[in-house]
Amino acid sequence: MPRTFDVTSGPAPDADEEAGTAICERCGREVAGSTLDRWNWCKSCRAMLDRKVRTGQYVVAAAITLPFLIWILVGGTGSVLPTYAWALPLLAAWYLGSRIGRVVVRNYLRAQPGA
Ligand SMILES: [Zn+2]
Repeated sequence: MPRTFDVTSGPAPDADEEAGTAICERCGREVAGSTLDRWNWCKSCRAMLDRKVRTGQYVVAAAITLPFLIWILVGGTGSVLPTYAWALPLLAAWYLGSRIGRVVVRNYLRAQPGA
């Protein structure tokens, strides 16, 4: 996913310039300071986090969407909307669930000392 504050240029990670290097908050590796994000995490730590966040956000989305789906199927909602028309609110629930899940899971994992 694009991160607008990513800095793609700058010194190479193993450049021997004292001023350009910084320590990653999570793994403790020394990398170019400009590649750290605002939490001082390096690129590989962010990539690892993003993988976990992607899995977690769909778990959250499913946890919101599946009870909604069951309610639609067993709750006699056909009198409110035809069953096929519930696809749109379901899609919205999935989308919002995954967006909310992304924020929640990311902040949760960021707060873990050894995540
Ligand atoms: Zn790191």
